[in-house]
Amino acid sequence: MDASADAVIVGGGPTGLTAAVALTLRGRSATVVDPGEDRSVGSRALVVHAGTLAVLEKAGCAAPILSEAVQLRSMRMNSRRGLLTHSPFDTLPGPYPFAASIHQARTEAALRRRAEELGVRFVTAHATGVDQDEGAAAVALDVGGFLEGRAVVGADGMHSTVREASGITFPDTGAAWGDDANMVLADVVASGPVDRVHLNAYPGSGLLVLIPLPNGRLRVLASVRDGERAEDLSAIQELIDSRGPLPRRGSSGRIIVDELEWASRFHFRHHLAEGFRVGRVLLAGDAGHVHSPVGGQGMNLGIRDGWYLAEAIDASLQADEAGERERASALLDAYATNRRAAAQGVIAATGRMHRMLFAPPPVRPLRNLAMRITARTPAPARQALGLSGLLDRGPQLLSRASSPTGV
Ligand SMILES: Cc1cc2nc3c(=O)[nH]c(=O)nc-3n(C[C@H](O)[C@H](O)[C@H](O)COP(=O)(O)OP(=O)(O)OC[C@H]3O[C@@H](n4cnc5c(N)ncnc54)[C@H](O)[C@@H]3O)c2cc1C
Repeated sequence: MDASADAVIVGGGPTGLTAAVALTLRGRSATVVDPGEDRSVGSRALVVHAGTLAVLEKAGCAAPILSEAVQLRSMRMNSRRGLLTHSPFDTLPGPYPFAASIHQARTEAALRRRAEELGVRFVTAHATGVDQDEGAAAVALDVGGFLEGRAVVGADGMHSTVREASGITFPDTGAAWGDDANMVLADVVASGPVDRVHLNAYPGSGLLVLIPLPNGRLRVLASVRDGERAEDLSAIQELIDSRGPLPRRGSSGRIIVDELEWASRFHFRHHLAEGFRVGRVLLAGDAGHVHSPVGGQGMNLGIRDGWYLAEAIDASLQADEAGERERASALLDAYATNRRAAAQGVIAATGRMHRMLFAPPPVRPLRNLAMRITARTPAPARQALGLSGLLDRGPQLLSRASSPTGV
């Protein structure tokens, strides 16, 4: 096979778009295949952490995202009576001492605009299979024909066709969350004593998380039992009343849900691909890892996967062009090993956070006491640094190849 693009990227979500932008910035040609379905309703991820913003800045997308986003100063853990502990984002090092809250669809729109501006080619189709030989890999399309690339990126989400067609298994990591993994997500317009600058979690009898959004909106995330009514305005109001902050004397009353924009229920599981590479086919984003939304890590990890994958593909193609085939292969392996380990770390950390938030009732007083004590230690700042992604520097590619554009 002869390749017609340096990389064919299956999936135009945040991961695939980031990879396409990063490859193009390095002078490589990228084709994105995506069915182009409307993803603006029920937007999933919200929080873009500092380490991801640093990557988006290099991609040329941070400014439009920041112009719309709400800046969150910290993630607070609360009892109904008040603060237990908080992980501060406002003391993070670097240019982004905050976490940006913005709908995933807006982050994707900024990446899509940038990709179009850079001349990324988009093909509206579903990929149905992948094949490869020594020289290239090919993606079969449901509209007929196929696209060839020197590399193929599977950024096609949790139910990845690329992953399945490449024979990579996606085992459940075995965490038995039961009802604790049933969640409702809702965007609401709310009034009353709404905190507009912190992410607030209330891990009481069931979890409630309130996250400020642009335009005065509020994202509500709550655990719900199977069959429990949760997707209408009065049910969301009940969840806030029964789990959220108790109205304080002298305050302006309780949080009132004035309008429900949308709500949906989902059940999460933890899955990790057994490998991120088969020959010229590489996985990134949800195609390689999915986990609890607690800590807001999924999209962040995916965007960083996309960036580091583009870096690895470019370096590998440079090595290939210089006739260094072993090195070309080692560079892709370095990506695969590094990103699987990063995903494993996130899955372990979100699992720990999840267990802490869903501590059984007899343990909760002790847990709350432990949170109050750790509030006086460096642990919350360390947690904020971990969540920020600033420590996730990607694979240390043997000696980093430089790009013509200096990216
Ligand atoms: C309810 C919920 C809440 C979440 N909250 C957060 C959060 O707060 N913070 C956070 O960081 N993350 C969160 N996430 C995770 C986040 O949404 C994902 O991690 C992120 O969307 C992954 O991006 P991706 O590009 O890898 O995959 P996706 O966003 O799934 O994009 C995959 C793309 O591939 C396309 N595609 C699929 N199959 C094919 C095919 N065969 N051929 C061509 N194209 C294909 C799809 O149409 C889609 O455009 C949440 C997820 C859920 C479900």
